[in-house]
Amino acid sequence: MKPLSELTRPNIWALKPYSCARDEFKGMKADVFLDANENPHSAPINRYPDPLQEELKAMISPLKGVPTANIFLGNGSDEAIDLPYRIFCRPGVDNVVAISPTYGMYEVCADTNDIEYRKVPLDENYDMDPDRLLAAADENTKIIFICSPNNPTANAFAPEKVERVISEFPGIVIVDEAYSEFSAVRPMRQLIAKYPNLIVLNTFSKAWGAASIRLGMAFASADIIALFNKVKYPYNVNILTQEKAKEILSNVTLLQRRIALILEEREHLMHSVSLLPICEKVYPSDANFFLAKVTDANGIYKYLVQRGIIVRNRNKVELCEGCLRITIGTKEENTKLLSALRQYV
Ligand SMILES: *Cc1c(COP(=O)(O)O)cnc(C)c1O
Repeated sequence: MKPLSELTRPNIWALKPYSCARDEFKGMKADVFLDANENPHSAPINRYPDPLQEELKAMISPLKGVPTANIFLGNGSDEAIDLPYRIFCRPGVDNVVAISPTYGMYEVCADTNDIEYRKVPLDENYDMDPDRLLAAADENTKIIFICSPNNPTANAFAPEKVERVISEFPGIVIVDEAYSEFSAVRPMRQLIAKYPNLIVLNTFSKAWGAASIRLGMAFASADIIALFNKVKYPYNVNILTQEKAKEILSNVTLLQRRIALILEEREHLMHSVSLLPICEKVYPSDANFFLAKVTDANGIYKYLVQRGIIVRNRNKVELCEGCLRITIGTKEENTKLLSALRQYV
């Protein structure tokens, strides 16, 4: 890996971050807070939240097996995807490399930050080739994005292949594991101690069932986390989200039961869809959704909309021609989808 000082944009490396009132005062006990121009009424929402979310990180740390110094929390994974662009990529100069097709936000953030986005197509089995990813990079490539399990293809890549990219690329590798809880493939976050260029993304939006609270996680070296903290908005995770997340984290058993339920439904739904006359192929899934190649993706999509059932039409996505992306719902929702599809002519 190149030195972090060389990978980081010079203006960010030199940046003197915003210092909030609570940064200045830290550690000692106090019960009169007249330092932040807050309103003394309407507790507890009158106070600014903890900018580094220490209590929340202390709950996440043992669950994920990652020390708190290696955790960043953001306003969804969206924030954790955008920040590396702003930290590492010089607008109009640098570029990033990503597998294709993949999650749309990587390219949107590249465009908003004026960064060239280089797509490396997956093969016909939606598998990735580490050599092709590495070959697409040049001296101005700051980041390689790998989403595993990948959206929209739903498959996870062999950890050995992902690890090869991490170990051989001298820049930053972001592995987005938004769906790893649904996969038997070993997650990458334990490798952050071994690879200082690795950033692993997790989210509360999928397995944790809390897309509306907007909470994303990034795991990386303490040096990279320090850069994230320097550039992020000071109070990027609001107190309602922090409190709700703590509540969710206090019932891990419920969470695990719900994941098991979704996996059971996934098996049933994928099998049932594969037997339908309209279905040409169901692709394997390591996530809470799957791709189905159907006889007429546009027609079936519109037909389902008329019945009040929304799936994702991926017909226009490279390598996903003719495919619908179907999220696993409740038993009742899945049954409605199946009975509608059975009646399609
Ligand atoms: C859904 C999803 C996320 C979650 O994004 P949030 O901003 O945390 O809701 C992240 N990455 C991928 C690949 C996703 O599909």
